[in-house]
Amino acid sequence: MTNSTNTNTNTSVQTLNNLIGGQWVPSRSGKTEPVYNPATEEVLAYVPISSREDLDEAVAAAKAAFRTWSKTPVPRRARVLFKYQQLLVENWEELARLITKENGKSYTEAHGEVLRGIECVEFAAGAPNLMMGKQLPDIASNLESGMYRYPIGVVGGITPFNFPMMVPCWMFPLAIACGNAFVLKPSERTPLLAARLAELFEEAGLPAGVLSIVHGAHDVVNGLLENKDVAAISFVGSQPVAEYVYKTGTANGKRVQALAGAKNHSIVMPDADLDASVTQIVSAAFGSAGERCMACAVVIAVGDVADPLIEKLQQAADAITIGNGLEDGVFLGPVIRDSHKQRTLGYIESGEQEGATLLRDGRKDAAASENGYFVGPTIFDNVSCEMKIWKDEIFAPVLSIMRAASLDEAIEIANQSTFANGACLFTKDGSNVRQFRETIDAGMLGINLGVPAPMAFFPFSGWKESFYGDLHANGTDGVEFYTRKKMVTARW
Ligand code: NAD
Repeated sequence: MTNSTNTNTNTSVQTLNNLIGGQWVPSRSGKTEPVYNPATEEVLAYVPISSREDLDEAVAAAKAAFRTWSKTPVPRRARVLFKYQQLLVENWEELARLITKENGKSYTEAHGEVLRGIECVEFAAGAPNLMMGKQLPDIASNLESGMYRYPIGVVGGITPFNFPMMVPCWMFPLAIACGNAFVLKPSERTPLLAARLAELFEEAGLPAGVLSIVHGAHDVVNGLLENKDVAAISFVGSQPVAEYVYKTGTANGKRVQALAGAKNHSIVMPDADLDASVTQIVSAAFGSAGERCMACAVVIAVGDVADPLIEKLQQAADAITIGNGLEDGVFLGPVIRDSHKQRTLGYIESGEQEGATLLRDGRKDAAASENGYFVGPTIFDNVSCEMKIWKDEIFAPVLSIMRAASLDEAIEIANQSTFANGACLFTKDGSNVRQFRETIDAGMLGINLGVPAPMAFFPFSGWKESFYGDLHANGTDGVEFYTRKKMVTARW
């Protein structure tokens, strides 16, 4: 069997299968949901909403596979990752097209996302280095001590819709390279890419059961959180779910890293290169339809930069091409579902009611589109910290502008947010950079760039309610999270 089957005689649309113990099998639940192309509303596939039974079966198969995989020499494990990297590169365009189809982001952005995923696999292929321990031959006379690193067992991964490739790739390649077995529950809104990623990993020679895919929603998540054979959970998604996953998973004795929502601020100083700042901010605010945990949601203009900055932002937003991300020149695709579009329109209304100045109204672009869940670039000025549009993560192409008299005041505003994923500063002055770096509450900072997402060999390190746990995703944090240590102290 392959990763999907035609179960409905009235249509050629396939229903996805789960990958359990190396076999693509239908879910036992019989429940499915349509997977839409958000640009066209076409049904691309049906995704099974799997049951606990499906999940438990996958965990049992993963547990069995772990016994052999964890004992497979690390260089041999790494070789599978090298082959996987090669296959991902060979299938780059197909993967990028699939991302655009199921997520809606532009093909250029999808192409970039594939690269970010491949980089994770490249980092994981360094497993022989990453898995090394440490020794000290003489902690006392004739006494030596050494630390050895081992995998932890079966790891569960739960991923969001907005990066169907990059986010799963933060998790399973490294966990698997470290010798674990992995059970992935992809977003039910963008499950196709995950299925393809698993197929390619199989093709690269990954043994059966080392990677499982169980499609679905809450039941599968709760199954992962409660199954006693799951040692750790990696989660990426919205804040309330991250908090729930962290609390439930840790209460059940599991390691949990839960990366959550965001509300990222960009501060623009009067000395900033205005045109370059506008290019970066527009891309960070409206690229991927604002559906990025590193999106720029708020600009704080310091001093007299506000008026020229706003004028240029408006001009740049007006010049954006909206449409199906597979078409040439399109920059802004749809948001993921009609429900998300309606929620966004609700926020635009609430911003107006709360007294913000609506400078550019994306509802007119929404109304102009016949199919697809489009919302145009939206800009509010005179936003304040009491407003819902400032407090909440909207996760759509809606940019709020605030004004501050000084860098101190701008940082104070940004630090009031409950979220602290990323923050950016646009300036030419080193002392501003130092002050910003030392006093802003955020885990990932950008200086004169809009989306400061760290590469795979560094941790992805949100703070406050943007992260629950201690070890972050990627880099050596990821290796620590997916391994446990044994200390051997010996006298001969
Ligand atoms: P989401 O929280 O709705 O879903 C994430 C995952 O959790 C999905 O697999 C979903 O099936 C599952 N889920 C949803 N509700 C659940 C519930 N009540 N119980 C159990 N499981 C549940 O998130 P999303 O809308 O898919 O993704 C967007 C969110 O992810 C945004 O908030 C964004 O900021 C965040 N995100 C954060 C990062 C980061 O690095 N901090 C990266 C990407 C996305």
